[in-house]
Amino acid sequence: MNPSSEPSSSPPRLKLSVKPAAESIIRSGHPWVFSDSIRRQNREGEPGELAVIYDRRDRFLAVGFYDPSSPLRVRIVHCGDPVSIDADFWNARLRATLARRANLADAMTTGIRLVNGESDGFPGLVLDRYDTTLVLKLYATAWLLRLPLIRDLVLAELRPERLVLRLSRNLGAAGPVHDGAVLHGSAPGGPVVFLESGLRFEADVIRGQKTGFFLDQRENRCRVGTIARGSDVLNAFSFSGGFSLHAARGGAKSVTDLDLSHHALDSARRNFDLNRGDATVAACRHESIQADAFAWLGQARPASYDLVVVDPPSLAKRESERARAIRAYQTLNSAAIRLLRQGGTLVAASCSAHVSADEFIGAVKAAASRPGRRFEILETTGHAPDHHASFPEARYLKAVYLRFG
Ligand code: SAH
Repeated sequence: MNPSSEPSSSPPRLKLSVKPAAESIIRSGHPWVFSDSIRRQNREGEPGELAVIYDRRDRFLAVGFYDPSSPLRVRIVHCGDPVSIDADFWNARLRATLARRANLADAMTTGIRLVNGESDGFPGLVLDRYDTTLVLKLYATAWLLRLPLIRDLVLAELRPERLVLRLSRNLGAAGPVHDGAVLHGSAPGGPVVFLESGLRFEADVIRGQKTGFFLDQRENRCRVGTIARGSDVLNAFSFSGGFSLHAARGGAKSVTDLDLSHHALDSARRNFDLNRGDATVAACRHESIQADAFAWLGQARPASYDLVVVDPPSLAKRESERARAIRAYQTLNSAAIRLLRQGGTLVAASCSAHVSADEFIGAVKAAASRPGRRFEILETTGHAPDHHASFPEARYLKAVYLRFG
């Protein structure tokens, strides 16, 4: 291991051995090692330092980022033969990641995920592009320690006009390295405007959720655009109106945004304004309702819409919340189905990693199954292809399309 580009550490290299089951999981390419899988270690590790994992026969197995404060104790960086984890290593990874997306970018879509964490070999790091602005979001201390390295690589490889840093809540860094810091270029005057399949959207890259937009739903939004013609559409948990704009351009008669946050609804109104030049969008009636969707859906007038999109935030942040989340998906979608007219379509989505696709689809089917009402499943989908997913936990997003008789 060449420590030259690593933060200087005088103590001996941190060495771990793991339980046999964890060993085979690591060999199969899974990027996470939990604290209860660790059998032995030569010393206590520092947050973010590299840990080398040895197998039962004391041979090199893998190397990863160590985090003593998290049950996710090691995020694997590399598994196989020993290599130097230096700037060249990361540069090669970045190029491979960008090459994987070479066919995904086009002039009509300038909001795209360029690096998707573990699945692209950058554990705990996301890089999103919004037109000429890049947003680097870090979920692991290890990257804070290596910030100059990754910043220089990104700038050299992608030459963006601007690079913004976002930090997950657990990385409360102060000083010049803080959430929303501009690492390169000028501070944006407000939200950054980008294109999604020709529609214009704003992304609040400095303060917005995730990196400013939910890029993972791109394909589902585009699909909704193809089935919305002539419909009255309800977009529950609408955020900045992504599904609504696609439905409007697809010829919807009306779209109603429903969200708890007035910031989200304001942003959706601005996004409609950004697209008024499109005659079909301009012709669509746009309304907003600020309310708790769980309560509102249960009380709304039945049979009022032809298309209802239900895309709540994660309902199970941890495994212990799984059963309750499954019940909540059933209740929520049952209320949404009640609002559909005959021949109407429900688009139900879940981003809860702890709820499997089968569990989620099961809950939606249970919500749909009621005497005297027939339905068919049109399609089940996942996240957009720029959200390359190499292991099961990375496939968190699922959506199901149901049409009712
Ligand atoms: N479908 C959106 C993403 C939805 S994100 C898109 O394509 O971009 C989830 C949204 O749910 C957020 O905007 C959040 O403000 C909203 N939200 C969270 N809890 C809510 C609740 N109880 N009622 C209504 N909206 C809620």
